[in-house]
Amino acid sequence: MLRTAINQSARKFGTNVSSSVKCNRLEGKVAIVTASTEGIGFSIAKRLAQEGAKVMISSRKESNVKKAVEELQSEGLQVAGTVCHVGKAEDRKNLFEKTKTNFGGLDILVSNAAVNPVVGPVLDSTEEIWDKIFDINVKSTFLLMKESMSLLKCSKSPSIIIVSSIAGYQPFGLLGIYSISKTALLSLTKTTSEELALDGIRVNCIAPGIIKTKFSQPLYESEEANDAAMSRISMRRLGTSDEIGSVAAFLASSDASYMTGETIVVSGGMHARL
Ligand code: NAP
Repeated sequence: MLRTAINQSARKFGTNVSSSVKCNRLEGKVAIVTASTEGIGFSIAKRLAQEGAKVMISSRKESNVKKAVEELQSEGLQVAGTVCHVGKAEDRKNLFEKTKTNFGGLDILVSNAAVNPVVGPVLDSTEEIWDKIFDINVKSTFLLMKESMSLLKCSKSPSIIIVSSIAGYQPFGLLGIYSISKTALLSLTKTTSEELALDGIRVNCIAPGIIKTKFSQPLYESEEANDAAMSRISMRRLGTSDEIGSVAAFLASSDASYMTGETIVVSGGMHARL
């Protein structure tokens, strides 16, 4: 019953996202997008490339990298790929080196990788889980930013985009540590944007709501979970990865040239405040 009503109202607020991208705002730029072989990262990489950027794709598994690169190259997009587990120093070093070798520099860094290995109350969790979530979601973002500086400082219009979450504003039940890590990214954005402003490096953040990917499956796969999610989303539908890609392209482009330290919530109207 609830689902029928939701579907009816969702029709009013349908996706209506044009599949043909007409702007070319990122011509001549080079981008790295981490965790970009699937989901939100893949869509961000695709959109940046559709707007003219050369994009380095990466994730942990070589087969995923190969598949993503082949798919995007078959659409005529300028992408290359390499394995990069963001928690591994050697992989990150290789990521920056390959980007420089393949594309000559770096203008846009998108830190998108995250994990959530546990569901349950924060204080029932272990130190190992806490460390894993913070290592990948927060520390790797810090390290990627730090290690990208020598390349970004040579760019004429450098920009960093961090992928946080609506959970950083309003914790998701039983995803407490993940939510805390995503709140930390909001502060990492603000703090580093102030430090890097005079170097001309803009740092912004995207806080997606519930986007239909593998990662968010537990939030919509059962009818009960789906109904609970819909009751919190004004537009009464899940977001698509491409709807995050388009916001990332805006933030990376000169259309956002006077924006730094900001987080854009892309959630179909889910309530968000700290
Ligand atoms: P997803 O569809 O599950 O995609 C995960 C991607 O990350 C895959 O390409 C995976 O490839 C890669 N990956 C996983 N661990 C990695 C690691 N340690 N290093 C490098 N790559 C890694 O996930 P998603 O939903 O797109 O999520 C992407 C980002 O959006 C995350 O930061 C997430 O917190 C955020 N977010 C998602 C939602 C949502 O509703 N989906 C909402 C808010 C925020 P391999 O397996 O080959 O590594």
